Amino acid sequence: MTEYDEQDPIRGNVLYQRHGGAVVVQNPPALPLPPERLDHIYALPYERAAHPSYEPEGGVPALAEVKFGITSHRGCFGGCAFCALNFHQGRIVQKRSIPSILAEAELITRLPGFKGYIHDVGGPSANFRNPSCKKQLRAGTCKGRQCLSPRPCKNLEVSHRDYLNLLRGVRGVPGVKKAFVRSGVRYDYVMLDRDRTFLSELCEHHVSGQLKVAPEHISKDVLALMGKPGREVYEAFCAEFLKINIGLNSAGRLASKQFLVPYLISGHPGSQLKDAVALAEYLCQKRYSPEQVQDFYPTPGTLSTCMYYTGIDPRTMKKVHVPGREAKAMQRALLQYRKPENRDLVEKALRLASRADLIGYGAGCLVRPKRGEGHTGQSDGNKRRATAAPKSSDGRGRRRRF
Ligand code: SF4
Repeated sequence: MTEYDEQDPIRGNVLYQRHGGAVVVQNPPALPLPPERLDHIYALPYERAAHPSYEPEGGVPALAEVKFGITSHRGCFGGCAFCALNFHQGRIVQKRSIPSILAEAELITRLPGFKGYIHDVGGPSANFRNPSCKKQLRAGTCKGRQCLSPRPCKNLEVSHRDYLNLLRGVRGVPGVKKAFVRSGVRYDYVMLDRDRTFLSELCEHHVSGQLKVAPEHISKDVLALMGKPGREVYEAFCAEFLKINIGLNSAGRLASKQFLVPYLISGHPGSQLKDAVALAEYLCQKRYSPEQVQDFYPTPGTLSTCMYYTGIDPRTMKKVHVPGREAKAMQRALLQYRKPENRDLVEKALRLASRADLIGYGAGCLVRPKRGEGHTGQSDGNKRRATAAPKSSDGRGRRRRF
């Protein structure tokens, strides 16, 4: 907690810790760079290619994802407890100027293999282009307080104007057909902006079919430990996204339907089996099957890692439930309960959580009973409805993104 608290370039202290006969010293991070300094760094003559020594092995496939993407800023004031970004980029956002980014966009249009699509214009959280408040630059970030959780700070400055101008500029660069935003968008910050122009233009011009957002969970207790907003904020965002997309579709301004892709974490400290079951039920209600689920892993230095290791939330010193190896496996399986290979683990988890009512044929059931076992789930009416549901391409029921 001390290390976390002192991770500030303006008010942070030097830390010392004795290790055997030596002392480890941690200096505060470097001061944030002003835009002109950051512009200089990004304007250096990078090769923008993997080292030729990789060629005999077929190159570096991951490069394709980032080669035509642009970093618009560094740092994030989101304050997610599981994220290490506070340690390596900091909580004070540092941005490049719009002319510098437009110059890079022009450069990208001249790169071999460019087909007119900028893959991303963003940063750790795409829509944080400025520090969260004026006080930050003078006195540093607040110790023991976050900018967005548990409630948005009254000093938080909410505006998407600068990011909007940037996106408008990039999509206007000759040779650019589309400029996508693939970095995660902080939907709680979007919802704080009463002006919906950003969300509307994002949907119309910068979503490549799927917009990634990170609700991470739906359980109030787990979200509080993660430092994430409540489920109601996410649902309000989903409703707004849907409304805007319906409007754009009916006006013929979108070529095809667009979806939200939510990122979820299983097995985070504080997450009990009942929380994972609740999340699985939520996914079932929404008819959403996540293709990927991130099982929590302890990233060095984060608050969540501290909880994982000590079983204590270092912010409150209260005990936190830490799921063990098997419980983590069950929580992960619950979020992908449709996968046949997860069936037995899901059943075990449901029985352990005293939720055998979700084993059956009803529409709200997560798994079916094993052949020869009676079903314990919902009524036959539900069974008929479930049986009649359209099948997805994987044959396990209709899939829908939300
Ligand atoms: S005053 Fe509020 S917005 Fe500014 S750093 Fe502190 S918590 Fe964040």
